[in-house]
Amino acid sequence: MLDVAGLNAFYGDSHILHAIDLAVGEGERVAVLGRNGAGKSTLLKSIMNAGPRAEGRISFGGRSLDRLASHRRTRLGLALVPEDRRIFTHLTVLENIAIARHAAAGRPVIAPEAIIERFDMLKPLVARHGGQLSGGQQQLLAVARALAGSPRLLLLDEPTEGLAPIIVEQMAHQIAAVCAETGSGLLLCEQNIWFARACTDSVTIIDTGRVVFKGDWASF
Ligand code: ATP
Ligand code: MG
Repeated sequence: MLDVAGLNAFYGDSHILHAIDLAVGEGERVAVLGRNGAGKSTLLKSIMNAGPRAEGRISFGGRSLDRLASHRRTRLGLALVPEDRRIFTHLTVLENIAIARHAAAGRPVIAPEAIIERFDMLKPLVARHGGQLSGGQQQLLAVARALAGSPRLLLLDEPTEGLAPIIVEQMAHQIAAVCAETGSGLLLCEQNIWFARACTDSVTIIDTGRVVFKGDWASF
């Protein structure tokens, strides 16, 4: 479904990603691990055409994404929850989640109420405005909202950062469950190896912008 071949990415004159090859099949879940500054966020942003200058081939569903703007990639079924997750602060939790469904044309979806039901921490907050949530609550909402949009491929950039271990555990469980139910694929950039292992099938490690390992978790 997603095919990245020979991807190089640059910020100005800085060459950040070097000849990255990466594939995520339909409904497949892949983790990308790497230390701070390895290039994980740059990879996700390159896939979305949201920041770095990218050279190489990126195709999605057999279609080249070459020069396709970020919002058009979203329309094809790619959804990124970036490090600086953005939610609608003037809408309630329920409205934030409901709005994501519009993106899910022709895809199996889970009702907004049912999505909230799956995330214990959001349940008591359902009528609150996004702007009244804590950082961690906003983060959980951003992930729940992306899942509600039933993307063909969900790109998550360190969704567990700053979350309590119990919430991380629930999030891993729900991401795996919702993706299995809707058939969404997942490309997850993470530092938390336990979490990454709990919600993906295989792992790619990048180090200073290069792929240094690729395999299933058993061979990790
Ligand atoms: P972290 O785990 O800390 O989020 P990361 O793996 O996501 O790290 P990136 O954010 O992709 O790392 O950064 C990769 C490299 O690109 C780093 O050396 C960083 O300094 C550089 N970089 C990131 N964003 C920019 C930018 N906007 N302009 C210039 N260089 C950047
Ligand atoms: Mg990052």
